[in-house]
Amino acid sequence: MESNMGVMPIVLELNAGSFVVHAALFWDEKDVILVDTGIPGHGKLIKETLNRESNLFDRLTKIIITHHDNDHIGSLPELLAESNNRIEVLAHPLAKPYIMGELPLMKGGHMARPAKVDYTVQDGEVLPYCGGIQVVYTPGHMPDHISLYHLPSKTLISGDALTAQEGVLMPPSAQFTIDMDQALQSVAKLAELDIETVIAYHGGVCKDQIRERLAVIAEGAGRT
Ligand SMILES: [Zn+2]
Repeated sequence: MESNMGVMPIVLELNAGSFVVHAALFWDEKDVILVDTGIPGHGKLIKETLNRESNLFDRLTKIIITHHDNDHIGSLPELLAESNNRIEVLAHPLAKPYIMGELPLMKGGHMARPAKVDYTVQDGEVLPYCGGIQVVYTPGHMPDHISLYHLPSKTLISGDALTAQEGVLMPPSAQFTIDMDQALQSVAKLAELDIETVIAYHGGVCKDQIRERLAVIAEGAGRT
């Protein structure tokens, strides 16, 4: 059973390697699910990267968006067009109007190229895909931010709720986080999970001292 499902990082080297992000992919026999979609103009790169391994793009059934920042939703319209819209899109209700191009992005102020959202997810909901994916509402970096916890592998897809540097878990970006106190409260919430691996969008995979790092990062919550 274990080998028929899993989660792995998808490393996207954008702009000749000057910008690297770590999307994630859940899979089992029924579903292949991409988490986040890079910046605009990189749909083709994502498609090629995924298809390099067992035609994963052609098998893609769903895309989950962690929050509506441009580097997470950017290539969503392109990927949907490439797939003839067969892919379902999931996001938090607060992200939906931004993804659909109905409200200007909170950072940048422009409208996103419109994409669809098929299903909105709620805090605590366990999506019945790939062995079970728990939605954890983790606002702070952005008000619509969710993290995703893969129950069978104890892997957390942290989006931008956390970052990483050379395998060490780090706080969310001070520069790009809208409400740091709320973001650190969200880290405290993540610390309640039994996590073995974290995939951070900016920084990649962490396996060591997850519990300790989450506690240390969340400690900052009381600061001014
Ligand atoms: Zn972000």
